[in-house]
Amino acid sequence: MSTMLQWPASRPARPGDPLVDSFGRVHSDLRVSLTDRCSLRCTYCMPEQGNLWLERSTLLDAAEIEAIARVAALDGVDTFRLTGGEPLLRRDLAEIVRRLAALTVGGRPVEVSMTTNGIGLAGRIDELAAAGLSRVNISLDTVRADRFAELTKRDRLADVLDGIRAAAASGLRPLKLNTVAMRGVNDDELHDLVDLAVEHGAELRFIEQMPLDAGHTWDRSTMLTRDEILETLSARWRLTEVDGRGDSPAERFHLDGGPHTVGVIAAVTAPFCGACNRLRLTADGQVRNCLFARDELDLRRVLRSELSGTERDAALDSVLRASVLGKQAGHGIDDPEFLQPGRGMNAIGG
Ligand code: SAM
Ligand code: SF4
Repeated sequence: MSTMLQWPASRPARPGDPLVDSFGRVHSDLRVSLTDRCSLRCTYCMPEQGNLWLERSTLLDAAEIEAIARVAALDGVDTFRLTGGEPLLRRDLAEIVRRLAALTVGGRPVEVSMTTNGIGLAGRIDELAAAGLSRVNISLDTVRADRFAELTKRDRLADVLDGIRAAAASGLRPLKLNTVAMRGVNDDELHDLVDLAVEHGAELRFIEQMPLDAGHTWDRSTMLTRDEILETLSARWRLTEVDGRGDSPAERFHLDGGPHTVGVIAAVTAPFCGACNRLRLTADGQVRNCLFARDELDLRRVLRSELSGTERDAALDSVLRASVLGKQAGHGIDDPEFLQPGRGMNAIGG
């Protein structure tokens, strides 16, 4: 939950204080990327070939991820979202979940969720739920096998659908499906995708495409907007806004009065930066204060330094705090000077 605080207070911040930026935004959500590798090659996320993968030796292991998460939790971070790349490619995923799910903030367990393409989820969901995973978001942009293969460069729609079925059958709730809505690619399938979500007791969330593709083909003037998505949905359903959006990036709507809902994440045309409470940890241990940040700070160097115990934790804390303090007011996509980040979405962690 995002809160606004006036800071600096009368003394310098120290470990255990909330992570407040210079605009008063309190950071309580850490997106943890576990790998830059993936079983798919979604065109808006990463190139099909020629990827320069992160060196394996630079990837944080489960204990290192836990060490950072522990410091973040002490500072009030109570929501951890595992992402990538594809987090299911990590063999030690259940171990990571177990370590993070054991953390508490104010005596309450933190939430550990995961964003995944669903491939291989069916065989692992029980183990992950037992390890303490709270819920999953599964990404799916089309229900047509040929289109899926074209869009992801892999013929694996059936595997994703298996994953969605397994998630629906598990006790993990709420279940969400994420769809990047794209003009001329899947804009004729918005109704079908919502139907699929409803059938599985999930909420579909349409995401506006952001300029994060390796090919730099994104174009503001041709992207499918929130308004267009809502217009298409309104042709079939009566949409009424769900109360209490809070700091959620998604605007949510009841379909024909409920109980089913749909969401739209208008990251480009109606940015929610003013309520942003998120930080990102890359798989190689760099902290980023925004998807679109041009700078990152090195936590891996601290983890692998000679420092130990309290000193190391204090150093991790000060790097986290420096990242938060350097955060800009907004992502600046509309700024004429805007530059895409150096890393692709798969290496940042979506
Ligand atoms: N592989 C997992 C998956 O696809 O869910 C997790 C990582 S993926 C980078 C996380 C989310 O980012 C997915 O829902 C994906 O659709 C979204 N995403 C990737 N590139 C995007 C872009 N250029 N614009 C908007 N969303 C994007
Ligand atoms: Fe892989 Fe997810 Fe990127 Fe698609 S969006 S290529 S599934 S990391």
